[in-house]
Amino acid sequence: MSHPLTAEPAAAPPPQGTHVPAPPAKVRLRGVTKTYARGHSAERFAAVQDVELEIREGEFLALVGPSGCGKSTLLNLIAGFETPDEGEVLVEGTPVAGAGPDRLVIFQEHGLFPWLTVLQNVEFGMKVRGVPKAERRERALQQLKLVHLTRFQSHYPFQLSGGMKQRAAIARALAVEPQMLLMDEPFAALDPSTRDILHAELQSLWMKTRKTVVFVTHSVEEAVRLADRVVVMASQPGRIRRTIEIGLPHPRQFLDPALAELRASILAELQDELTKIMKREGDDDWHLEEGALRRRPGGRVDHSMGDGI
Ligand code: ADP
Ligand code: MG
Repeated sequence: MSHPLTAEPAAAPPPQGTHVPAPPAKVRLRGVTKTYARGHSAERFAAVQDVELEIREGEFLALVGPSGCGKSTLLNLIAGFETPDEGEVLVEGTPVAGAGPDRLVIFQEHGLFPWLTVLQNVEFGMKVRGVPKAERRERALQQLKLVHLTRFQSHYPFQLSGGMKQRAAIARALAVEPQMLLMDEPFAALDPSTRDILHAELQSLWMKTRKTVVFVTHSVEEAVRLADRVVVMASQPGRIRRTIEIGLPHPRQFLDPALAELRASILAELQDELTKIMKREGDDDWHLEEGALRRRPGGRVDHSMGDGI
């Protein structure tokens, strides 16, 4: 087959005598396991188990998998909101010790302060960090320009659409010049056409800034469109099932046939994963109809894995 789906290639051995050390990974997870208590019992389960992952500087990485497979847990470990029970999370070779301004998280809920204008929201993080007023203003305006919200700088969050709020949240995050953006299903609550616009905006922002991005989603469509590399996760315990390089240039168009092939291939893999979940949570005779995951009643092709499973 000619499609660009390739499993991660094994590194070629360096030619003798010309060894150039590879740049250190931006983020490295080594044998990471995170457990939680099951309900109120003393029993614990692994939300993620034995995860090995390297994230390169400037890479756009997507974590994809069904609900509950540990995507947010992995992101929270990188953000420093959680600590691993086993293994370690290293950022540029140093173990993560708590949250830091170099790693900002953007959630599904924009988290803008309702009592501040868009401009004040974008300035807020810089104010907390003691950036002088004039510089704050200048940087905030620059960021608003990047996300095309200059005209709405004096609006309050309630006056904005969902997509505009998320763009303001992205501008606010970028204003403090983090090295990394950690995004946890940031567009999941938006309607499909707004999401489409934000995909295009995020791609163009990323091409301009080349920040390292870790993007969590349960939408395969979103993952293959945006990411350089897609990490497909399996659940219970949460672990990495497969890593796929998307060898296509940015920006990518939604209707690119090469993306459709990649989507189909990843979905086929996840169909297996969902069948496993349903067998565990349903009767033994449960099985998934061929193609059942791909179509919504209205005929629209659905490349997400649903929230409820
Ligand atoms: P995802 O983001 O892929 O939907 P999560 O990382 O949120 O998955 O969760 C993975 C598993 O860990 C789920 O079974 C979830 O219920 C559980 N979990 C997540 N956070 C906590 C927590 N703080 N306490 C207990 N269980 C948790
Ligand atoms: Mg989650």
